[in-house]
Amino acid sequence: MASTTPPGLAKDYQNLASQYPLCKKCSMHKPPRTHHCRWCDACVLKFDHHCICKQHCVGFYNHRYFFQFCCFMAIGCMYAGTMGFREYQIARLGEHRFSHLDIFFKPFIVLNAFGIINYITYSIFIAALVVSFLLITLVCWHGRMISRGITSVERLFNQDYTKQCTKQGFLFVNPYDLGLVENWKQFFNVRTIGEFIRHVLWPSTHLPSGNGIIWTNCNGQNLNKQTKPSSQTRTDSKQDIQPKEPMESMKDR
Ligand SMILES: [Zn+2]
Ligand SMILES: [Zn+2]
Repeated sequence: MASTTPPGLAKDYQNLASQYPLCKKCSMHKPPRTHHCRWCDACVLKFDHHCICKQHCVGFYNHRYFFQFCCFMAIGCMYAGTMGFREYQIARLGEHRFSHLDIFFKPFIVLNAFGIINYITYSIFIAALVVSFLLITLVCWHGRMISRGITSVERLFNQDYTKQCTKQGFLFVNPYDLGLVENWKQFFNVRTIGEFIRHVLWPSTHLPSGNGIIWTNCNGQNLNKQTKPSSQTRTDSKQDIQPKEPMESMKDR
């Protein structure tokens, strides 16, 4: 599903997004959280990133699939790298003789025991363990952003906004951050534990929360009508300067 579900292209929702400004690259109306992908040459709703491995964007409609794919892959690789590693030895040698490090530090002993073909197969379990650590890092990275109600590209924008606001005596507040629990509920589009079990732990094709164009805060207010300065809180009364827009180069990422 992560590979086959389109991320949600802005060009398919122009009838709902006609009041928003035009993209300088593709001339499509860009609702909030929509960004232009330079690889796909299209504006993507709630753009997160362009996945090089799958050669398509991760956005509003497939972000959950991408995240769950990484979670399940990490669990699978971890299982293969630990239990599979052990079971393979027992199946071939009748006992659990070698540790994970033996394949690096005692390669000839392991080769002698397994033979070249089985040695290569055996090494795949080590590769699975390495991949699982990489995937766990990726899952934690995305999990942190989901917890804060931001996407990968918004993380960059928010860093820039935060610097600008700090210089001008404002405190930047992310308007799409609904709080830790609510952010996860919105991301998975579940409201109860039962829904979480049925729609997250089990495969589910349910759609994400909302339409990717209209965004509301935790009070149900439409954030699309707010201007950027309203999402910032004054911390210093000495200055009355509104923050500048982020760099143009960042806007069209
Ligand atoms: Zn565009
Ligand atoms: Zn893309």
